[in-house]
Amino acid sequence: MHTHQLSIQVADPANLPDAFNEFEFLISSYYTSGQKLGKQHTVYVDGNTLVCIIPAHEETSLSTENNNYYVTLRIERLEEFCGNKIQVKQLGKALEEQPVCTCAKSDFYLLIADHAAIDSPIKCGTCFDVVPLYKLPAYYEHGYAPILAWETNYQAVDTLQIDGEVGEEWATEQMSNPNSELSIQGRGVCAGIEQKTGINTYYYLHNTKENTAEQELDSVCPACQIPWLLTTPLANGIFPFKCDNCRLISAFSVNLAG
Ligand SMILES: [Zn+2]
Ligand SMILES: [Zn+2]
Repeated sequence: MHTHQLSIQVADPANLPDAFNEFEFLISSYYTSGQKLGKQHTVYVDGNTLVCIIPAHEETSLSTENNNYYVTLRIERLEEFCGNKIQVKQLGKALEEQPVCTCAKSDFYLLIADHAAIDSPIKCGTCFDVVPLYKLPAYYEHGYAPILAWETNYQAVDTLQIDGEVGEEWATEQMSNPNSELSIQGRGVCAGIEQKTGINTYYYLHNTKENTAEQELDSVCPACQIPWLLTTPLANGIFPFKCDNCRLISAFSVNLAG
């Protein structure tokens, strides 16, 4: 994770309120282009300068080659409006840097998220490192809004499940049933990515079955009921289950009975 500071000085102070709105539009476009991580942000004013802190996967995430149509358009408008150029400053990086996939071609992709992470929800099925969304072909309207919409839904549902006080049972069902509303949305995203990239894209299904370890070894894909235990689990043993028919991947149950 790399942290960038994005700023622009507003030449005419009378334009500050409108420039503030234009700057907000640009930050939102950086989110849907996959360059900025996380939906939330705060814009602040320092004298006549608008400033926002942008978390991103790479040092180069905000480079112009990663800008989509809307980001380019917003930057042009903002710079014209402000009479100045956007400035990007590297503030630093996470102590333990999360590697980004550099594979020439991934064997497959995995759509996976959790309540706490703001990363791209796409993992490479070869190295299992993260794939920044801007590395994928444009998904919708030049950006990735439907993928991010699924990710924020998943985070909301996972938060209910983790907190355990409101809707835990409903949330667990949403995350572990391959035909829940959440799973249908996510599997639709997988199908869309697969269609655009030609790379098989799997959906991660949460496993909460109250099985013994022996029963887990005999378990079947919850969508097509075919045995789905892999001879060699994926990602150093994290994912022992995969169904190529249904494009589902899963882990051993979090509720293993003794
Ligand atoms: Zn990779
Ligand atoms: Zn299946």
